[in-house]
Amino acid sequence: MDDLDLLVELHRTTARQGPGGEAETCLAITLSGLSDRQDLKIADIGCGNGAASITLAKTLAAEVTAVDLMPAFLQELDARVMAEGLSGQITSLEAAMDALPFQPSSLDAIWSEGAIYNIGFGAGIRRWRPYLKPGGILAVSDLTWLTKARPAELQEHWAGEYPEVDTAAARIALLEAEGYAPIGYFTLPEHCWLENYYAPLQRRFGAFLEAQANRPAAQAVVAAVQLEISLCRRYSAYVSYGFYLARKLSD
Ligand code: SAH
Repeated sequence: MDDLDLLVELHRTTARQGPGGEAETCLAITLSGLSDRQDLKIADIGCGNGAASITLAKTLAAEVTAVDLMPAFLQELDARVMAEGLSGQITSLEAAMDALPFQPSSLDAIWSEGAIYNIGFGAGIRRWRPYLKPGGILAVSDLTWLTKARPAELQEHWAGEYPEVDTAAARIALLEAEGYAPIGYFTLPEHCWLENYYAPLQRRFGAFLEAQANRPAAQAVVAAVQLEISLCRRYSAYVSYGFYLARKLSD
């Protein structure tokens, strides 16, 4: 197993693979204005094992294509979809988010929670825009500075991990520059990180390390998550995920 496989193995069976929550997905759905529409076609990009896809399918009259690069996450998603009786609404698709197989102007909404950082916010919103119908909705959560200045330790950590991390004002300006009209924004509360995301991961550390015979690469994966948790506990006033809702403007 290489480092990526180890990461996938640690995250595969937890309820979600990034900060977020069902209530927050529902809030974003409300802000999106999609609730009273029918026959929606939605793609959930970087869906992991399907937390948002399942909420979208349960809440909206929508067909959801759940896209991820990792087959192991999609297998978990397929099992959850089956167990929830949502096979008629959710289809999984193995694809890279910078080479999506959708037709131009074919989607009513593109959803992506905690995943756009893999290609960067700017590249993501540019590359995905053509797949949206005019007036289609973009709903993306991404790491966001909550204040103009922050402690050096936090700044250095996230600037190293994700150099594009920025303020909401900068992100919203970028959405406007790239042909979207921003229609909503909120930040994820701390429990979306600590309780919904990190706590289930922490409960897996022991079994994960044991299954990997405590080898250094597995210990490094756990140590990296522990560092993130420690930063989150100390600095949640300065950084969170921002949830951005925007409508595609006509060309
Ligand atoms: N949206 C899910 C998962 C977030 S974790 C949730 O909120 O729980 C980020 C996801 O992006 C992972 O599932 C990872 O496999 C996927 N990913 C990483 N790089 C990708 C790429 N280039 N294309 C598609 N998916 C990718």
